[in-house]
Amino acid sequence: MSNCIFCKIARHESPAQIAWEDEEVMVFHDIAPQAPLHLLIIPKQHLAKIEDATEYQQSLLGKMLYTAKQQAEKLGLNERGYRLVINNGREGGQAVFHLHIHLLGGRAMHWPPG
Ligand code: 5GP
Ligand code: ZN
Repeated sequence: MSNCIFCKIARHESPAQIAWEDEEVMVFHDIAPQAPLHLLIIPKQHLAKIEDATEYQQSLLGKMLYTAKQQAEKLGLNERGYRLVINNGREGGQAVFHLHIHLLGGRAMHWPPG
């Protein structure tokens, strides 16, 4: 059983402001929001980074993306737009090594990212 912080949140052992969950996926609010709305979409099973995903996890990855889209809709962001981000590895800026999609919304985003 993994001791990583997002695994603990997925098992309800560490607190988080949970927006949605089912058997495979959980959505909770980022502890240090970078936008008025900042959610994290994670798989409940431990997967350190997108780089580690195998072909057998394709449907799980698709489900995470679709979940992000559904949550954005629920928050009324679909008209305004929003941003989905996955940081992978050191140069990708990843800090927590349990795969997550950032859903950022409620303000205009800029490009290129930092
Ligand atoms: P990364 O840089 O790995 O893509 O993003 C990790 C994100 O997880 C950061 O935005 C950070 O604020 C968030 N985070 C780190 N620890 C916790 C925690 O214990 N609870 C919650 N809700 N978010 C966390
Ligand atoms: Zn984990």
